[in-house]
Amino acid sequence: MLDIAARYDQVDTMPHDHDHPHSVLPPEPALRVKALETLLTQKGLIDPAALDEIIDTYENRIGPKNGAHVVARAWSDPAFKAALLDDADPVLAELGYYGRQGEHMVVVENTDAVHNMVVCTLCSCYPWPLLGIPPGWYKSDAYRARAVREPRKVLAEFGVSLPDETAVRVWDSTAEVRYLVLPARPAGTEALNAVALQALVTRDSMIGCGLAVAP
Ligand code: FE
Repeated sequence: MLDIAARYDQVDTMPHDHDHPHSVLPPEPALRVKALETLLTQKGLIDPAALDEIIDTYENRIGPKNGAHVVARAWSDPAFKAALLDDADPVLAELGYYGRQGEHMVVVENTDAVHNMVVCTLCSCYPWPLLGIPPGWYKSDAYRARAVREPRKVLAEFGVSLPDETAVRVWDSTAEVRYLVLPARPAGTEALNAVALQALVTRDSMIGCGLAVAP
């Protein structure tokens, strides 16, 4: 690792003589991250235990199951759904789903008339408290450009084909506003309780790139 650090220093200080010192850097992002983590730990700038805590939080405690909980409740409780669509923040705060990257939430409902999908054309804004860390494709240049240019084609690639009479509405997330799609409740789920309903709600359905799963 120190060897890598020395090479980074060298790249930074040496005149750029086009012998491509970049090529000595490890190509894998994971290796770069590990090198940085090791260096920062050695310099006493980060605490590995705190890092583990943050990773555990986003891997296990924050994730799409939170969003699925909200969706299942909205499907089963009309008053909750109305409040959620009207002004999501206080409703979500009451459930404990707030904090970084989820400060100003707007919930948009998919119906037969309109299908909502979410993108961040600028970068990767995403409602972390409800959906966890964004998937790689959400951050890709291709998705960010094509979701607005040819949303129906993108949806088809996700396996979602909509009737022509269903309008597609694309919401562009920003640092100020994040969106959660409330997917349509699948048919034949009238008898299911909230726990069973929750299992039908996929992450992609809450981004609008999928549909809730039929039971
Ligand atoms: Fe962004």
